[in-house]
Amino acid sequence: MKNMFDCDLFIIGGGSGGIRAARWASQLGAKVFLCEKDRLGGTCVIRGCIPKKLMVYASSFQKTFKVAQHYGWTLQEAQLDWEKFNHVRHKEINRLEGIYENILKNNQVHYISGQGILKDPHTVVVKGKAYTAKHILIAVGGWPGRLLIEGADLSITSNEIFNLKKQPQSLLVLGAGYIGLEFASIFNELGTDVSVMFRKEFILSGFDQDIRNHLQKEMSQRHIQMLSKRSPVKIEKKDNTFFVTDDQGGVWSGELVLMATGRKANTDQLNLTALDIQTNSSSHIIVDEKFQTSCPSVFAVGDCTNQPYQLTPVALNEGMFVSEYLFSNKNKDKFDYTHVPSAVFTQPEVGTVGLSEKQALEQGLQVKIYESRFRSLKLSLTSFQEKTYMKLIVCKKTDQVLGCHIVGEGAGEILQGFAVAVRNKLKKSDWDRTLGIHPT
Ligand code: FAD
Repeated sequence: MKNMFDCDLFIIGGGSGGIRAARWASQLGAKVFLCEKDRLGGTCVIRGCIPKKLMVYASSFQKTFKVAQHYGWTLQEAQLDWEKFNHVRHKEINRLEGIYENILKNNQVHYISGQGILKDPHTVVVKGKAYTAKHILIAVGGWPGRLLIEGADLSITSNEIFNLKKQPQSLLVLGAGYIGLEFASIFNELGTDVSVMFRKEFILSGFDQDIRNHLQKEMSQRHIQMLSKRSPVKIEKKDNTFFVTDDQGGVWSGELVLMATGRKANTDQLNLTALDIQTNSSSHIIVDEKFQTSCPSVFAVGDCTNQPYQLTPVALNEGMFVSEYLFSNKNKDKFDYTHVPSAVFTQPEVGTVGLSEKQALEQGLQVKIYESRFRSLKLSLTSFQEKTYMKLIVCKKTDQVLGCHIVGEGAGEILQGFAVAVRNKLKKSDWDRTLGIHPT
């Protein structure tokens, strides 16, 4: 049976989910082929998490320099060499891309450079050559979408923001999801004049309301202009200035417009209809709890599916799940999406795990809320008024901590540890019994 096909698993897409699935399946003894149409590493490495986090680091020094002066340091005027920063960042991304190539090589995964197109339930065509496989895994990720408004193409997306030749003096971010807000913070800290335009009253839909309020206030206090309850209707460019008209009749003008209004799945050129593979209204592939599509030999993971989280660790773990499901006896249960922790690398940062207060109430749970707002010790010698905010959602009946949410410096790092406690259903009394580290 095995010899009927060129390989056991053919993976379309060499991003987080695809590469991890390839390595895992190969280590479980499967013969694996993988094709990638662009650069190995996918969104996370090439145009997502990693280059973005390097920009977050670059932008965070500004505050450190200011805080240092309050502690008695004398500093000369600090300036970022944009060209140099772009150069070192691109160099690091190239290095990581090479590492991914080596991962495939070292795990005997046959790498094919080119776009994969489905031909039938067991065949993928790349650059005109057909490859047969017992199973196919689609891991093609997503791509930034654009609003259907006049002049939308004049804006850039998160893809192009990594290739700016110079730092803009002013920036309008359209959309207040985590990607838009992260870039708003990055450029604001670098000294760009930043505005964010969004449809709702509050930023970061889906997060706990108190976290949304707190972050919005803190970002405003850091001089980001929050243009709430507005939608852009038109983008124009005259000379080198962009003009964005909103539905309230307001007009923003400035140097650059970033559209961060959502992402769509990279599924339109896969030929899914030929295999009767079902997608939802936003072109995401519908998978069952084993990541199997409506075509039984074809699986899909990561951002291109209808699963609830578009995050790298989720795509990685889904890739491993499928490989174990197909080539070992493990994972006969379904993938567990409870307690997926996440961070928003704004300044200040957000870290969150578990239920928001609203979600807990919607589940009919009675909850106790514990919250704290304080100015960190580090800032006590400075004029910075920034407040850290922490919130715990605890079940009244069982004392279990259902959710933990933080806005403040290092929130992402801190939250990773608390995620273990929340995932393992520890009670508030367990948390209380744990001695604190002082002074933190
Ligand atoms: P991808 O990583 O997108 O990989 C898909 C790959 O498939 C791509 O390389 C693509 O070129 C290739 N491909 C597409 N079609 C074909 C085809 N037909 N044939 C061959 N190859 C094909 N997540 C976090 O966890 N933390 C973060 O801080 C974070 N920050 C982000 C910041 C930005 C700006 C963005 C855009 C995303 C961020 N994410 C973050 C999300 C994260 O990058 C994705 O969730 C993750 O990369 C999804 O992995 P994937 O394997 O599903 O898809």
